[in-house]
Amino acid sequence: MPRCEGQCGTDELVRSLAYGGTVQVVAATTTGLVEEAHARHGTWPTATAALGRVLTAALLMGSSLKDDEKILIQICGNGPLGRVVGEATARGQVRGYVQNPHVDPELKAAGKMDVASAVGREGVVVVIKDLGLKEPYQGTAPLVSGEIAEDLTYYLAQSEQIPSAMALGVLVGPAEAGASQGGHDHAGRGVAAEASGSGWKVLAAGGLLVQALPSARQEVLAGLENRLARLPQVSSLVARGRTAQGLIDELLEAGKAGSYQVLDRYPVEFDCGCSRERVARALVSLGTEELARLDQEGQGAQLTCRFCNTRYSFGPQEIHDLLRQLEEPGQP
Ligand SMILES: [Zn+2]
Repeated sequence: MPRCEGQCGTDELVRSLAYGGTVQVVAATTTGLVEEAHARHGTWPTATAALGRVLTAALLMGSSLKDDEKILIQICGNGPLGRVVGEATARGQVRGYVQNPHVDPELKAAGKMDVASAVGREGVVVVIKDLGLKEPYQGTAPLVSGEIAEDLTYYLAQSEQIPSAMALGVLVGPAEAGASQGGHDHAGRGVAAEASGSGWKVLAAGGLLVQALPSARQEVLAGLENRLARLPQVSSLVARGRTAQGLIDELLEAGKAGSYQVLDRYPVEFDCGCSRERVARALVSLGTEELARLDQEGQGAQLTCRFCNTRYSFGPQEIHDLLRQLEEPGQP
């Protein structure tokens, strides 16, 4: 798998408890991994923003999981993007894709990317958690705005009964510009015009998630919601050099709210986890008939991993060997 270049190494997640342990605040910087998702999938700017928000949300929401548990978020709106999918582990690996990566609607006023129009304002959020049980946990809620953070906040309240507030942001801009030249969560006007070109990149991305535990006082969450709404865009804070912990400091006004306790801190990265062996198993799972047909055709097979766009090629001989293994189980 090709290694990413640039800022991947600086992506990080910090999970903390504030207000005497009654409110959990999680923050992540995800610039490098969202740029990697863009490079892998060739997403246009607005598609990149939507995918980046979902990848970041999956990491934030996945931070409460344990060990080998996983969370998958699907945003299924009626807009041109189709499905936007992100899957994260409790250890900070994330992967994902958008069904139609080449979507970039007109910019909104002030040059803001119109993620809601690309996602669609009607549809459904589906969250699937693999908790190592026989059946995965699945929850759903309707989309409320197509902006993703709002949709997931509504999902958390409705489906999981967790009062929460969330901010997600992705800033793109000219590839030659430094992150410090960003400022707002928007695409430069010239960027959308050359959406498919390589003249732009992800300058900053990140997110904040506030979750009230059952013992939290209602006015505390209301106050944090207000504060979150008044903060600059989370992507512009990241563009100005805020770390994950810096985002928490910003939200909690660095100690004004009393001290907070860092529970967890780990690097986050785009890491699909797919491999030739797994794809070969998927080929085998097609069954004898389908493999025999591929063997007969003698062209080999090409499979592309949907989550990371890695292409796996199997030659005619490999297909033949897989078929033989299927027909004679136990033989090497
Ligand atoms: Zn993959």
